[in-house]
Amino acid sequence: MPLDPYAWIDKSLDTLHRADWYRSVKSLEGMAGPVVRLDGQEVINFASNDYLGLASDPRLAAAAIEAIQTYGTGSTGSRLLSGHRPLHEKLESAIAALKQTEDALVFSSGYLANIGTISALVGPRDLVLSDQYNHSSLKNGARMSGATLVDYAHCSLSALAQQLQDQRHRYRRCLILTDSVFSMDGDLCPLPKILDLAEQFDSMVLVDEAHATGVLGSRGAGCVEHFGCSGRPLVQVGTLSKALGSLGGYVAGTASLIDFLRNRAPSWIYTTGLTPADTAAALKAIEIVQSEPEMRSHLWSHVDYLRQQLNCLWEATPNAPLPVRQLPSESPILCIEVQDAATVIQAGRQLRDLGLFVSPVRPPTSPTSRLRITLMASHVRSHLDQLVLGLKKTLLMP
Ligand SMILES: *Cc1c(COP(=O)(O)O)cnc(C)c1O
Repeated sequence: MPLDPYAWIDKSLDTLHRADWYRSVKSLEGMAGPVVRLDGQEVINFASNDYLGLASDPRLAAAAIEAIQTYGTGSTGSRLLSGHRPLHEKLESAIAALKQTEDALVFSSGYLANIGTISALVGPRDLVLSDQYNHSSLKNGARMSGATLVDYAHCSLSALAQQLQDQRHRYRRCLILTDSVFSMDGDLCPLPKILDLAEQFDSMVLVDEAHATGVLGSRGAGCVEHFGCSGRPLVQVGTLSKALGSLGGYVAGTASLIDFLRNRAPSWIYTTGLTPADTAAALKAIEIVQSEPEMRSHLWSHVDYLRQQLNCLWEATPNAPLPVRQLPSESPILCIEVQDAATVIQAGRQLRDLGLFVSPVRPPTSPTSRLRITLMASHVRSHLDQLVLGLKKTLLMP
């Protein structure tokens, strides 16, 4: 018998199954929104990153259709060769205006924006300091860059300061990486103090606004605006695929940063330009984010209401049969930590049987197992009440 060089794949899959780490896709039918059909069952959707409900907004669809009719479905080349359209330029100006930066650059996804930007900014002679809970795209960007990568304890300014003190002088450049809203926790990075430290230690900062764009800040510009840090030296990355309801990523910053990235970010240079449809939809979304702040107020009133209801729930049942803990959050992402992967999967399944779609998140995506609830502006109060009731049944009286 010849040896099978691929046999290890099935063994690896078995290991994943045994650890309850195995994942598979679920099919969502029909239109995106607060209520969706999941494998044939109607469920209230608490698993989407479409915070403002824009992915199903007819105005985005109309803009996308018009762009396809004008430019076609594909952008047909990389931006530097034949894939650049006037729409890209309009979108980049709109992002820069929203972010109050000199310029912006659109990538084909947020993931590509992070790996391209980080690996352009630092190299083997440099140091990257990264929050331990950062998104995979920040971590992998840092690895690709060849810089020395050191994680610091989650949101710990003292840990970051210590690393800067001990390590900074040994390296040419230093880049601090942080999510602004932590995607699997929902808390915020202490941005103003991080920027102070960066200034003190001659370091750059890259902040990932994926879950903050369109959600935080009085104009929806994100966490940087929320903390009053617009205008401070900073590299801002984000995505067009969450609150903006489209696809693609962006970097916003100084004109020279953007000019440099157009010349040095391989994940921008060597990939096809964002499609006309995605570009036009994102552009329309940015317009709506700015002209309809009531969408954001609606979303935040849901966040306040759900937090209150959950507090009442935990207070009413101090001796829960299962250890559950609501994680600190300052965003529309609310997480409830449970003891292990098997428990979170079981809870996710029970909630689904009750018509509630909540993501069970486990290692390696997050350090511990938790139910991740995301709210949308287009939810209604009764959706939230049903969720609270479902959580009570699932977690507090199993
Ligand atoms: C989703 C996400 C990304 C990746 O964005 P995509 O546009 O989906 O590739 C990057 N960073 C964070 C924090 C995210 O949550």
